[in-house]
Amino acid sequence: MKGGCDIAIVGAGPAGCTLASLLKMRGFEVLVFDDDKRPDLLVGESLLPTVVNLMRRLGIEDRVKEFSTYKPGVAFMHRGGLRLDFFFPEKALGKTPNYSYNIPRPEFDNVLRERAEELGVTFVKRRAAVEKGDGEREIRLTQECLDDTPELAGKHPKLLIDCAGRVRLFARELKIPAKRGGRNDVAYFAHFENFDAESSKDGQVVLSVLNHGWSWRIPLPERLSVGLVVNKDVAKEHGSTAEERLESLIDSEPILQGPGQGRKRVSEVMTYTNYQLISDRLHGPGWVAVGDAHGFVDPMLSPGLFMAMHMADLIDRKVFAAGAKVLDRPEQLAKGFEKVEAEMLDWHDSWANIIEYFYDGRIFSMYEAGAVMSELYGKWALPFLMEKHMSKQITRMVSGVSTRSRYGRGLVAFGAKHLLWKTETPEFYSVR
Ligand SMILES: Cc1cc2nc3c(=O)[nH]c(=O)nc-3n(C[C@H](O)[C@H](O)[C@H](O)COP(=O)(O)OP(=O)(O)OC[C@H]3O[C@@H](n4cnc5c(N)ncnc54)[C@H](O)[C@@H]3O)c2cc1C
Repeated sequence: MKGGCDIAIVGAGPAGCTLASLLKMRGFEVLVFDDDKRPDLLVGESLLPTVVNLMRRLGIEDRVKEFSTYKPGVAFMHRGGLRLDFFFPEKALGKTPNYSYNIPRPEFDNVLRERAEELGVTFVKRRAAVEKGDGEREIRLTQECLDDTPELAGKHPKLLIDCAGRVRLFARELKIPAKRGGRNDVAYFAHFENFDAESSKDGQVVLSVLNHGWSWRIPLPERLSVGLVVNKDVAKEHGSTAEERLESLIDSEPILQGPGQGRKRVSEVMTYTNYQLISDRLHGPGWVAVGDAHGFVDPMLSPGLFMAMHMADLIDRKVFAAGAKVLDRPEQLAKGFEKVEAEMLDWHDSWANIIEYFYDGRIFSMYEAGAVMSELYGKWALPFLMEKHMSKQITRMVSGVSTRSRYGRGLVAFGAKHLLWKTETPEFYSVR
């Protein structure tokens, strides 16, 4: 890259590397700032089937398969004993494969970066520094950062893209507020050996509603990723360090204590807080934010990597399919980003909507109602068939295939309103 670049991306996570590859495929000169601060352990290990489509677009599925666990579906276990198994259907979900993968995150990010490098994207190992700019460039690289990056040849890129994740690098500098979610949770997680996943089929991810909060168990090659998400006040009652809290929380929950007896922790414990937030603004003159830098709803149902990579895909198709000239047309660029923003906000809203059914217990109540109906009316009666149809819709929604479907959302809302009789109340099943 002798004469500088058209576009500089800050952050080499899933959003940054996906977008860099796609833009390079279109012929743009792309540079990625990678601060190389990736820890050995990272959340984002359970993927939706819709991510496999994006892997295929990048041509990396075979490489990912090598170090990942095949994921056939998800189970939900409830402290009261109820268990719900969702398996991706036998046939592909529309154009989307009927499976996904559980991935060790650092390896996955490495493959994404490797692919971008093969395509010719330039990576520079340094932390990008930005400052407030002027009218046509609302945010810019600091002079020091420009000078220290010879690959830029002293020229500021036409467009800066914030893919720096939850730090929301540009939004923070520009003091753009974010909408925060309503939960006051903290997540602790680590990798274990000798911890039973209790999957019904190998690779199935198991989410459990506990006495306090909820947990994930994600089977990875030769280890199990275990995470607990609890209210911050509850966490404080379980010790003072992250290690003490995770171990004590596991031992205090009957659902996990048995399967975790004899467990051996083989990684450090990571902590995540304040992750539910969506930025009030996606773009401005000379910049746009993608992935977590724009927003993240909640880890329940694992939408994060899909949202980050899908957003990169959307920006590529909706904005940059127009070719290099779009970079010199600020109005066209802004219009394209507005379309992407509207679609992404609808995605966030749809995920928040379906996830709420899991937090407030209605999903378990609906399942129980289905079982009651089948006993009362038999397998071919209308109520039972309705429940079956609803299960199919829910599977499609939680897989990312039809999360935004108005029909699906309406149907689930109808079921939650009218089909919950002779069951425990949603309150009984809710995440506390
Ligand atoms: C508790 C929890 C559990 C989760 N579980 C899942 C799950 O099972 N499945 C799933 O799909 N998602 C999950 N997620 C979400 C997922 O981790 C994120 O949505 C995803 O990582 C977003 O990708 P990204 O590329 O936007 O950001 P990131 O992955 O955060 O990447 C940002 C990159 O930018 C770099 N960076 C930051 N600042 C700079 C700078 N100034 N200069 C250069 N580089 C910089 C960082 O080091 C990092 O490499 C979970 C999230 C949480 C909080």
